[in-house]
Amino acid sequence: MKKNKTRIKIKKRARIVRVARLEEPIRELPGDPREARLARVTTEILRVVGEDPDREGLLKTPQRVAKSWLELTSGYGVDIHKLLNGAIFDSPESDMVMVTGIQFYSLCEHHLLPFHGKCSVAYIPNGKIIGLSKIPRLVEAFTRRLQVQERLTGQIADTIEELLRPQGVAVVMEARHLCMEMRGARSIGSPTKTSAMRGMFRKDSRTRKEFLDLISHDSY
Ligand code: ZN
Repeated sequence: MKKNKTRIKIKKRARIVRVARLEEPIRELPGDPREARLARVTTEILRVVGEDPDREGLLKTPQRVAKSWLELTSGYGVDIHKLLNGAIFDSPESDMVMVTGIQFYSLCEHHLLPFHGKCSVAYIPNGKIIGLSKIPRLVEAFTRRLQVQERLTGQIADTIEELLRPQGVAVVMEARHLCMEMRGARSIGSPTKTSAMRGMFRKDSRTRKEFLDLISHDSY
């Protein structure tokens, strides 16, 4: 008799666990285990804002949002040195190297809303150059994180300075912030401009002017 009672208790407990799981289904997602966690959080957001996560149009939304978040923050997983090593070459050139109009998309760390625009990068070599295609990759590695535009601009400049030890580096970013346009101040159509000047671009006004003149027609 006693034995029987114990068995029933265990059965009951087992059933409770199953019910709890049914309430919060963890959909098996292949690949990155963070996807399931992000999807759960998204379902919760849908509920909190007053939506029905079981509505047909929203059924796959948590998974889509999870995947998109992993893509938009993929810069955290990029090893900058690995990305650029093997693309740095010795060169006697000392003329300004410039890559302009690099389109970028990032997320502001204060509102988790996008800011996007164009970036121009220039440097004056000092014995070393970098493969040109690596510069947009470097920009992407830093933009695909939660950012503030000022820090982002400085990070790109500092990384090039550290890797190439050039005579100078300049980075200018011009962006529209959706957190300013969709909400709050609603200041539409006034892009935010930031710049980071290192070495000759900071010290020599003619070098800086040459760079700024060259990118002036390249406005967002
Ligand atoms: Zn913001």
